[in-house]
Amino acid sequence: MSGKIPRSFIDDLIERTDIISLIDAYVPLRKKGGNHWACCPFHQEKTASFSVSPQKQIYYCFGCGAGGNVISFLMNYDHLSFVEALEHLAKAAGLELPQENKTYKPATTLYDVMSKAAAFYQAQLKKSSQAIAYLKSRGITGKLAKEYQLGFAPQAWDNLISHFEKDEKTQNDLLQTGLILKKEKVYDRFRSRIIFPIRDTQGRVIGFGGRVLTKEEPKYLNSPETVLFHKGRELYGLYEARRVLREIKYWIVVEGYMDVLALAQYEIRNVVGTLGTATTADHLNKLLRYTQNIVFCFDGDQAGREAAWRALQVALPFIDDKVRIRFLFLPQEDDPDSFIRKKGKNIFLAEVEKATSFSDFLFKHISENLDLTTLEGKASLSHTAALLLERMPESALKQMVYKNLSYVVSLDENRLRALSKEKKPDVFHQVQNQKQQSRPFKLEMTPLRQAIMMLLQNPRLCSVLSEKFFIEEWDFSESMILKEIINLYHTGSQMTSAMLLEYWRERQEHSLISALLMKEMFVSSEEKRESEFLQIMQSLERQHQENKIEKILMKGKVQGLTEEEKKQLQEMIAAVKAVIV
Ligand SMILES: [Zn+2]
Repeated sequence: MSGKIPRSFIDDLIERTDIISLIDAYVPLRKKGGNHWACCPFHQEKTASFSVSPQKQIYYCFGCGAGGNVISFLMNYDHLSFVEALEHLAKAAGLELPQENKTYKPATTLYDVMSKAAAFYQAQLKKSSQAIAYLKSRGITGKLAKEYQLGFAPQAWDNLISHFEKDEKTQNDLLQTGLILKKEKVYDRFRSRIIFPIRDTQGRVIGFGGRVLTKEEPKYLNSPETVLFHKGRELYGLYEARRVLREIKYWIVVEGYMDVLALAQYEIRNVVGTLGTATTADHLNKLLRYTQNIVFCFDGDQAGREAAWRALQVALPFIDDKVRIRFLFLPQEDDPDSFIRKKGKNIFLAEVEKATSFSDFLFKHISENLDLTTLEGKASLSHTAALLLERMPESALKQMVYKNLSYVVSLDENRLRALSKEKKPDVFHQVQNQKQQSRPFKLEMTPLRQAIMMLLQNPRLCSVLSEKFFIEEWDFSESMILKEIINLYHTGSQMTSAMLLEYWRERQEHSLISALLMKEMFVSSEEKRESEFLQIMQSLERQHQENKIEKILMKGKVQGLTEEEKKQLQEMIAAVKAVIV
């Protein structure tokens, strides 16, 4: 939400930012015709259907329907919030956000605190022979330690605190970032631990993980949830991987910091860690932006297997014919770190190649304690499988999985699908509707959409509308959009395409509007355009009048019409005829 930031400021930012250079810095664009093109960063594709218009200052993907202005791009590409995106643009334009809404606290100072803390820990690592020895024993080189900004928090309660100013504001900032805690006194959260800074996609440190050097508990300690850090959303190593890899063929998702580092040490860089938490839909949304191919590789123990099963359940709503999710199960006693150090890179990668498909894992897991030679066993399998499979979007893959199941349990596919409708246990509710990626958006043109498109792209057409059109009365499914555009134009302000689009942010109509804004119009002259627009509007008005007549006629059939209504009906019919002429 825009909070109290004035729309005029937002418009100004949109005006000052050039969308071509903004996007080009993230996704290299190529000029072709009037637009600039690239392979879409929001869906997987081989030919470029992502277009950016320098005139309209908006982008639109003809493949997946992603579209928007500079603000939307930053929000979607870099997962920034609305205010963060504005902040980013304002900074680049040398402006300051004029008025902040109350809940919004500028994060800049907190980022500074985190970065200063990271530098402090990093410097401490160099001074601790014990910490260096530990990292060396785990095969981590100095080069890698530097790249991942590894650090060390020495033993004592006030190392970090005394590194910062003593004033109240600084102390508050430190408390807010979770770097220090307060009981009777304030003290450092991380003590005597190797420090792993967790960075966001822009490379800013937002949290830390800390590992003990000795046998103490807990073995790992993370930053708490803060304004900057949301554990369920972040992935360790994502920023670093993106920085060194031009293309990511697939992701390997591991559990721990040391797993990410160990694989990086073997030059396997397409690896991210879930910070020891369960995989979430947010994680998947983030990962799928880069590749549709994910291999989960958790520890070989029971806990690792359970984590894999939870990941599968969260992934189900994402799995279609394009998204490929697999699972690599390591031997009982291994984690990715120990496995690669024992077996080496090639064997590890060969295992990745052989990773279990999601469907194999699914069937194996749910039939584990079932006797499939009995009817009861088959019935139980059918039920559980159907409940899980319903979480998947429709796809050829889903059909094949059902077919497979149908074969195993000798039950008709449709009967199986019906089973899932019977009762859904609560565990599935939490993963429902978490998929944020939009489904492919196919733009079908209707006369109303044609009119909206023309009006969007030619605000001047607004002036040719007359009282012949009872637009306020129209009740077609999308006539609200047309009314809003007309109202917007009537407020008198000059609106560019990018500003118009801003007006629909966070509304369902956003993708339709961006598609209509970007659609090419082939009309030779201004006059031709006007007459075409009027023709469409006339036919819509006629449709509207006919609908009204239809309604009255229906009423007449059911309960009869009064004299007054009959007269009205005749007038309406005459009026419709007049419009046709
Ligand atoms: Zn796309």
